[in-house]
Amino acid sequence: MKIGILALQGAVREHRDLLHRLGVATVDVQSRQDLYEISGLILPGGESTTVGKLLVRYGLLKPIAEAGRAGLPIFGTCTGLILLSRHISNSSQFRLGLMDTYVERNAFGRQLASFEADMPIPVLGSKPYHTIFIRAPYIKQAEKNVTELLTHEGKIFFAQQGNLLAAAFHPELTSDTRVHEYFLRIVATAQTSQ
Ligand code: GLN
Repeated sequence: MKIGILALQGAVREHRDLLHRLGVATVDVQSRQDLYEISGLILPGGESTTVGKLLVRYGLLKPIAEAGRAGLPIFGTCTGLILLSRHISNSSQFRLGLMDTYVERNAFGRQLASFEADMPIPVLGSKPYHTIFIRAPYIKQAEKNVTELLTHEGKIFFAQQGNLLAAAFHPELTSDTRVHEYFLRIVATAQTSQ
């Protein structure tokens, strides 16, 4: 099993290193061909308007959207969460638009542009998870088919819709591998149900 990491811009190396620590092989995804050999795809944090434009330039926007609709598990962190969302406040930027979510970008004031907090995430077990937010977006609303995995003060920070997983925070920047392991379980389940 290989996991693809979209490698156009952003925190690619951190996701790659974390998956290698878990013994999982990775592919840097930069072309359509790279998609054929992967069982799951990670969209790292970065800058979502830039990554959206690069997805178009590299001919990847439609192929990834089609693969996601066909069941490829996709995990978006931060910028990835924005790209997965169908609705983005006040923006017509390029997106995959696969999740029935409404996203606010750069939603926290300047002094809160980056912050960290221990949050309870029941699907990861009873130990709180150390979340790191960097100019983070959040999901302000989601359709009924979206499961909220972490909601704090009305803001959804971690959500799942079938094989699609989205986090507003940066699990690749911690040594706690539970979020990636959760995604790998989605990938394993998708493979056995094929
Ligand atoms: N603010 C960025 C954006 O809008 C996301 C920040 C991140 O990925 N760390 O794309």
